[in-house]
Amino acid sequence: MQLWQKTMIYLATHGKIKNFMETYLSGSVLARRFCGGSDPDAAVKTARHLKTAGRTASLFYLGEYVTDTTVIGKTLNSLERVAALAGLAGLDCHISVDPTQIGLMQGFPPCRANLSRLARRIRSGPGTRDVLMIDMEDSSVTDATLDLFHQLATEGLPVAVTLQACLYRTPKDLGKIMERPAMVRLVKGAFAEGSAISWTRKADIDRAYRSLARQMLSNDAISKGFYPVFATHDHRMTARISEMARHNGIPKQAFEFEMLYGVRPGLEESLIKDGFQVRLYLPFGRDFWSYSIRRIGENPGNIKFLLRSLIN
Ligand SMILES: Cc1cc2nc3c(=O)[nH]c(=O)nc-3n(C[C@H](O)[C@H](O)[C@H](O)COP(=O)(O)OP(=O)(O)OC[C@H]3O[C@@H](n4cnc5c(N)ncnc54)[C@H](O)[C@@H]3O)c2cc1C
Repeated sequence: MQLWQKTMIYLATHGKIKNFMETYLSGSVLARRFCGGSDPDAAVKTARHLKTAGRTASLFYLGEYVTDTTVIGKTLNSLERVAALAGLAGLDCHISVDPTQIGLMQGFPPCRANLSRLARRIRSGPGTRDVLMIDMEDSSVTDATLDLFHQLATEGLPVAVTLQACLYRTPKDLGKIMERPAMVRLVKGAFAEGSAISWTRKADIDRAYRSLARQMLSNDAISKGFYPVFATHDHRMTARISEMARHNGIPKQAFEFEMLYGVRPGLEESLIKDGFQVRLYLPFGRDFWSYSIRRIGENPGNIKFLLRSLIN
């Protein structure tokens, strides 16, 4: 890992710096660049603006690997409120959730109960695809996360799941999911997993992503109601996927691209101009500092948003 990224991780996780910045920079240019607001009402307001600009949203309450039951309760309340507001507004929103945010650290049964409670709050209107999108965390929870998805989907709840192209197991996991008309968000994978279970070279991960995308965009899968979400900021990858869909005669309304809010607005714009559907992962909550600093770690150019926030 580069020195720059190490420095940003230090800034993101240092308790005193984090507390100070979350108070001092609340509502700043930095917070607004990557996050949708500090509470559900603000987040849904941002989602409405995005909808006007041709983008849908995937709302995520900031926080992960939570053990404190008070925080889990607050997370659930915020997500329920956001699901209700977004559903009422007909915004075609996804609610994104990490299993470790809502009870997996305490065990499978409480997490399953909480996920089920959230999924029951999702209301999909005509022509919309509101779902509870389950994020995929590190490999210690892959089995549990897939079990959660399969159990809730079998109950007929509106759930979808994220798969990581880097893992060797993913083609098999995808095959099992594709036995039903499901929605899957494909990512490359954000966790440093070992070579025993994961591709580690970028070229191999990209190859695995393309191969899974081909599987997800097959005529057979789409005609059976499978719905792919391709989450990537990689313009070469979006071009390849667009070409695969065109080659197979898959309509642009049969899949979508998803990116993190504020990361590649230019790419969003060009995809929308070309008629593709674009969703933005829109985090909200007070814990914006660690999340935003990670975006600076990935792209040093984003330091300008921190500098502007400190000057103003
Ligand atoms: C909506 C969403 C949800 C996600 N959910 C999960 C999850 O649940 N679990 C998980 O493990 N991971 C998740 N991820 C993270 C994902 O796994 C990758 O780590 C991350 O997206 C980086 O891969 P990439 O395909 O975007 O681009 P990379 O492979 O990092 O980059 C490829 C190329 O894309 C271009 N590029 C990428 N980023 C930028 C940028 N900021 N500015 C300009 N050019 C850029 C550059 O040309 C770069 O060389 C999610 C990502 C997104 C977008």
